Amino acid sequence: MNRAETGLSYIERLARERRGRLAAERLLEQKQRELFAANVQLARHARALSEEIVEQRHGLEVARSEAEVLRGQTSDALNELQRANAAARTAERRLWEALETIRDGFALFDKRQRLIAANRVYLSMIGEEEMPLAEIAYSDIVTRLAERAFAGAAPEVRHAWHEAMIARIAGDEIEPRVIHLGDGRHFRLMDRRGTFGDLVSLARDITQAVAREAELSEAREKAEAASRAKSAFLANMSHEIRTPMNGVVGMAELLCETVLTDEQRLCAETIRSSGEALLAIINDVLDYSKIEAQRLKLYPEPFDLERCLHEVILLLQPSAQEKGISVLADFDLFLPTRFIGDRGRVRQILTNLLGNAVKFTQSGHVLARVVGIERGEGRFELHISVEDTGIGIKAEHLDAIFGEFSQVESESNRQFEGTGLGLAITRQLVDLMGGTMWVESEPGEGSCFGFRIILPAAEPIATGIAPQRPVRLRKVLVVADAQISRAILQRQLETFGLAVTACRSGDEALAAPGAGAVDLILAEQSPRLDGAGFVRGLRESGIAAPVALAAAEGTTAPDMPGVHLIAQPVLRSALFRLLEALSYPALAQGGGDGVSPGGARRPMRVLAVEDNRTNQLVFSKMVADLDIELGFAGDGHQAVAEWRRFRPDLIFMDISMPGMDGRETTAAIRAAEMAGDLAPVPIVALTAHAPDSDGAWSLEAGIDRWLTKPLKKSAILSTVLAFVPADARPPLSLARPSQPSATI
Ligand code: ADP
Repeated sequence: MNRAETGLSYIERLARERRGRLAAERLLEQKQRELFAANVQLARHARALSEEIVEQRHGLEVARSEAEVLRGQTSDALNELQRANAAARTAERRLWEALETIRDGFALFDKRQRLIAANRVYLSMIGEEEMPLAEIAYSDIVTRLAERAFAGAAPEVRHAWHEAMIARIAGDEIEPRVIHLGDGRHFRLMDRRGTFGDLVSLARDITQAVAREAELSEAREKAEAASRAKSAFLANMSHEIRTPMNGVVGMAELLCETVLTDEQRLCAETIRSSGEALLAIINDVLDYSKIEAQRLKLYPEPFDLERCLHEVILLLQPSAQEKGISVLADFDLFLPTRFIGDRGRVRQILTNLLGNAVKFTQSGHVLARVVGIERGEGRFELHISVEDTGIGIKAEHLDAIFGEFSQVESESNRQFEGTGLGLAITRQLVDLMGGTMWVESEPGEGSCFGFRIILPAAEPIATGIAPQRPVRLRKVLVVADAQISRAILQRQLETFGLAVTACRSGDEALAAPGAGAVDLILAEQSPRLDGAGFVRGLRESGIAAPVALAAAEGTTAPDMPGVHLIAQPVLRSALFRLLEALSYPALAQGGGDGVSPGGARRPMRVLAVEDNRTNQLVFSKMVADLDIELGFAGDGHQAVAEWRRFRPDLIFMDISMPGMDGRETTAAIRAAEMAGDLAPVPIVALTAHAPDSDGAWSLEAGIDRWLTKPLKKSAILSTVLAFVPADARPPLSLARPSQPSATI
């Protein structure tokens, strides 16, 4: 204790201690209060904390249960995903299994043209067994394909193929390509772009198809060779048959013209008609076999279609007349008549159709109609139809009749002969000409066969119908029994600017008003109109107009002045010649014997080159009626010599001669003509072969026409008449007693 403290009184020290104690008590109280407050605070906190804990525990519970639900959902989705994956894997596996089972190659490329997947066939094409691990590009695959396909070829070939293969996939439409791999397999490579620029490649294995095709083409070649051999055999056989038949038919024809007893005539006629029938059959079979072997070719040349039609009708006229049916032609007057086409084949079609029409018609008429429309560049679409009033064909047979060896089997049809090849050949010929054929028919009423072909005209179109000089006649009276004939004649005459009155019969004509004032009477001879009687009636009634009698060729005209014969059916050119002759009689009369000039001119010179004696005899007999000078040459050398000496206007040239044949002889004559600058002499080949096999070379050998053996008198005569030179007299003497008037 220090001195101050020692100095304080005890009381003071007590007071001081009391004060200290009080202060400590107050501090204590203070602290207790603070403690209490802190406790309260603490209790509040504790409560809040425990509430928070409860709350959080609840939240945790909720979260836990939500997590439970989610866990359930996730495992469902997982299951679903696993199932989907499994299904996708199965589908993919199946797809690839399927792609592996096919014989074709399949591959997929991405849009950078890297291989994504390929089946084993595809891999085998590039020499792989498994899908390569390294990336492989389309271009590398093409390189490998090129190596395997063109192993032995030059690198440029492979390169060119590679370039082409790459270039082709640049476009949208990718052209397929065929590849022949070195291992013998053939593939057709077909590629297609996918939606996302992928490339899908399919390599179709066409090995079997290629092999089959090769087998087929080998078989076809063999069949064609057999067919060619068959055709050649048939052609040779037909040659062998035709040559002796020439003698048989030709001589029989001549025999028929001599004086015979009825029995002898029957025999001779039978020989002739049987021979002709046999030849027709040979021709059909030969033609058909040629068409079959696709050896039949067309040889187009300018020809007169109207004349061709009339020639066919003239040929059929005798059998038509026998039955009393008329065969008429209606050639569109506004059509040219000359076209460029295969005359022989057009004629064959017309002969078949008209021949059938006449064959299957017992009464009424057969009418051939030719109409046409211009198709530009001088070409005409010609519609040629042949209608008849014959037995007709049932609807169910119509399709079959164009088939080979097809004939309608019925009572009404059985009486007719035929091979059943005619229409099959006809249709094939029309096909070959690029045309079409059709038929309409009504049993008991008749049939109409038609065909349509396009041919170029062989004459300036405008001159087709216009006469050179005006026709001076004005009025014409037409007399014809059949309505169709009247209509045709009327139309023909009207195009020449003539006024036409048409009558059905002679009586009607005599009674027709103005009959006395006509410039020409054109009458069609028929069983009901006897030409001579009719003309007599006219003259008795004071009608002096010239009369033209339209009659079948070979008909004798009545020996009366002012009567002319015109061949029926009436050819437009013949009609024009008649009208011209009547318009300008001084020009036409010349020698003074009616229409045809004659007189003191030289005879036509005809040279026949023929090695066979019998055929020479047949030929000379056939032209015996003609007013011509006839020379013969027995071989090619003689022929050239005769041509020099005799200067013929026309040569008939046998083609198959020993030594220098007809072709060589013709060529020698043509060469001599060229050297001497002489006009070419018309040369008509006589051949034993069917026309088309000779047609090709005939043009190049300088032959103008051909005739097929056996020779027919009518064909020889019409050929001679077609080549009469201007300075020679007409070979058919008009002064002969049997033909007192002119036939135009
Ligand atoms: P075919 O040599 O028998 O005449 P086609 O091929 O020419 O042979 O004709 C086949 C068949 O078609 C004939 O047999 C006949 O039944 C029938 N036919 C052809 N044309 C006519 C026609 N104008 N009228 C009636 N039937 C016809």
